[in-house]
Parts: sequence; C-alpha cells; structure tokens
Amino acid sequence: MTSAKSVELAVSARDVSMMYRSNHERPYLAVRGVSLEVAAGDLVGITGESGAGKSTLALAIAGLAGGAGDAIPRMCGGQLEVLGTNVRGIGRRGRDQLTLRVGFLRQDAAERLSPLLTVAENVAQPIYQRDRRFSVAEAADAVATVIDAVRLPLGLMNRLPYQLSSGQRQRVALARAIVLEPALLVADEPTRGVDATVREEVLDALRDLQRDRGITAIVVSSDIAVLTRIASRIVVMQHGMIVGLGDIDSLTMAPENDYLKGLARARAALGRDPIQTSRPPGSDRIP
Ligand code: ADP
Ligand code: MG
Repeated sequence: MTSAKSVELAVSARDVSMMYRSNHERPYLAVRGVSLEVAAGDLVGITGESGAGKSTLALAIAGLAGGAGDAIPRMCGGQLEVLGTNVRGIGRRGRDQLTLRVGFLRQDAAERLSPLLTVAENVAQPIYQRDRRFSVAEAADAVATVIDAVRLPLGLMNRLPYQLSSGQRQRVALARAIVLEPALLVADEPTRGVDATVREEVLDALRDLQRDRGITAIVVSSDIAVLTRIASRIVVMQHGMIVGLGDIDSLTMAPENDYLKGLARARAALGRDPIQTSRPPGSDRIP
C-alpha cells in the first residue's frame, strides 16, 4: 500500500465503487470509493463485518466483476488495475486472460468441488479448461506438485471429496486455485467451514505457498485471528468503505472507530484463546 513508483503493484484500486443490479430490487452500492494498492509479492488481509463488501471487492480483484448475471457486481466508479490489466470495462477475452493469472478461492470453494471427481481430477480441472489437449503426464505432475504444496498426502489423490475432512477439502480447493501458477491469489474466507483444529494448517499452507512461490495474496476474513496469523497489513472495511488500513499492530493499538476498537479487543483476547473466539464482538451485526 505504498505508492512509491519503484514498487511493482499487483493491484491498484482508485476510488472503486461496485453495485449490484437486480430486476427485483433497486441497485445496491456494495463498495463505495475504495482505494488501495498491493505491491507484488505482498500478502494483504481484508477484514470487516458481514456485509461490509469484502467479497464484492474480492470478486472485482479476481477479475470477475461485470460479467453476466444478477449475482455479479458491476464496477460503476473508479479505476482498478490488476496485474497491469485495467479491469473496468474489460471484455470477455480480456477477462478470460486475466482470470488465468489470478487464482480465486471462492467463499464456498470447498463446497464447489465436484463430488463425482477425485481429488486429482478436481485439481486438474482448470488445466483442461484452459487447454483440453494438455499432456496427461504433465497435468499429473502439476497436480501432484500442488497437492504436496498444500501439505496433503499424495495418497488422497484418488479419493472423492466426501471422503476428506473439511480442512483437507479446503486445501484441495486451494490446490485447485493455484494449479495454473497464478501471480495473484485471492482467497475469500479460506477457513470458513474448516474445523477449528485444522484451521491453522490451512492458513500455514496458504502462507507458505505465498512465500515460497512469491505469489501476491489477498486474503479475506472476518476473523482477525486468521489475519493475525498470516498477514501483517490489513484493510478494514465497513459499509462498503475502508475504515482502516495499515499494519495490524498500529491499527489495533490506536483504534480510530468502534469497529477497530472491537477488533483491538478481539486481538487482545487472542493471547488467551488462540483461534476460536476471535471475532470482534458484533462482527456479524450491522450497527
Ligand atoms: P462481505 O463479504 O463483507 O460479507 P459482500 O461483499 O458479500 O459482503 O456484500 C456486500 C453487500 O452487498 C451486502 O449488503 C450484501 O447484502 C450485498 N450483496 C451481495 N451480493 C448481492 C447480490 N447478488 N445482489 C444484491 N446485493 C448483494
Ligand atoms: Mg463475504
């Protein structure tokens, strides 16, 4: 989030606003004038209460805003550059090219794994979606490499998703998101639905991947414990806007608004009870 010209930026958002438009409801502005910069190779966390606009912003950064459908938000203001591509008004071809370079772990990625495909087949899917005639041997190699990178035993490759634990399924989803070797990984609530006992494993796998492969990562989580474990710099959103931006320590040491004060309390409680009771009080309530 520095603006030094010498730093290569993976993401540059200037005054970005995003809206949902559906036939039944009036247009809704979910992201309101957000500006942020993420340098290449950084890991930045985005937090905030439910409904703050985190997932909407994540979709835009993943290059998926503006496509067809009511459930897809549209950028209605500002400028957004992702990996050097101007996302606002991007066409279908441009979007297809960009999404090959951005790994997107959706909020519900683990549930979206195909129940009929093995772990290896699920992970290989993006490879064949990109190139139907890709060499089977090379794909198998790439799949084994990423399964290992997310610290899953290779013995799981022929299992079906239902035969795995929640944490294993989430790591399969993570492996699938990075199998095309993206320069940028956007992970939306990567520990949602993951048993508390294995949350740290999922997070450590994510952080190690980011470090070892020099990937830029944006990790969205409403759980401050999650971000404390892997990110030093965070963006705090509320009502579609950024209300805090910087390193976790200084944001929680001198909290400037009620949400940040709650975050500071949640953070202080972390020392006592590492990863479970880490949501700021009222984080699911719109004040
Ligand atoms: P977060 O991920 O921080 O919980 P979201 O980005 O999912 O928040 O949602 C931000 C706001 O946009 C919320 O008020 C939500 O109700 C609204 N929203 C999300 N998806 C849609 C949609 N498909 N149509 C209309 N409004 C939506
Ligand atoms: Mg969300």
